[in-house]
Amino acid sequence: MSTQHPEESARTVLVTGGNRGIGLAIAREFAAAGDEVLITHRSGEPPEGLRGVIADVTDSDSVDAAFTQAEEIFGRPVEVLVANAGITKDTLLMRMSDEDFESVLDTNLTGAFRCARRAAKGMIRARKGRIILISSVVGLYGSPGQANYAASKSALVGLARSITRELGSRNITANVVAPGYIDTEMTGELPEERKKQYLSAIPAGRFASPEEVARVVRFLAGPDAAYISGAVVPVDGGLGMGH
Ligand code: NDP
Repeated sequence: MSTQHPEESARTVLVTGGNRGIGLAIAREFAAAGDEVLITHRSGEPPEGLRGVIADVTDSDSVDAAFTQAEEIFGRPVEVLVANAGITKDTLLMRMSDEDFESVLDTNLTGAFRCARRAAKGMIRARKGRIILISSVVGLYGSPGQANYAASKSALVGLARSITRELGSRNITANVVAPGYIDTEMTGELPEERKKQYLSAIPAGRFASPEEVARVVRFLAGPDAAYISGAVVPVDGGLGMGH
């Protein structure tokens, strides 16, 4: 279990898509360290031990309502935003429909933008903030059958770097975490043959656990990372070297 840094006080953290997978591991990591955590989920109940607000990141009103509710629950602004919600709709370029492309961009890129824009309001007021965008090794490495996904994930780098230039002087950082292959439902859907190919390309020779990503995200939200902004931090076992 993680312990809080001596200089750290409990922060208010919102993790989008924190009801499962990597987002859930991130939410649990912050909660275990004593931070005040809310996850967003689209339906049903939040996972045990966590509080949630309903949000669909493809809808600006829904994002706005979730942040307003979060601010009411916390009694202060969201200090740490982890924009994690994401989808894939893989298919080869020639077969990719406009809808396949646009829906992935709308969730992964515009969704992160909607959340960052709304979060920035409170962060500017609070004179502090940490924005962490969950990208993917695929964003800069490319991947056949994932033109939509890779485009959405690489664009998060430009988003984080522009936020850094706009808000860096206000004690707000914006960074990108680029996980490689992580054991979640998203990778669980991959055919066995593809999994074997990926494993042979990963210098570490294994997939990572969601917790390995979560710990890096928490580091970027902490006081030791105050001077890191606009960075792309890989958590990929060496797969994407050269980013
Ligand atoms: P999962 O498919 O397990 O979880 C995705 C999460 O995003 C779910 O909570 C889902 O909610 C949520 N979500 C999807 N669409 C929306 C939406 N429109 N509004 C709000 N929430 C939404 O994925 P992972 O945990 O594997 O991935 C998390 C992030 O990490 C993603 O951005 C992904 O691209 C990235 N990533 C994952 C890797 C991996 O190997 N798994 C590798 C690199 C990056 P719901 O439960 O309602 O569907």
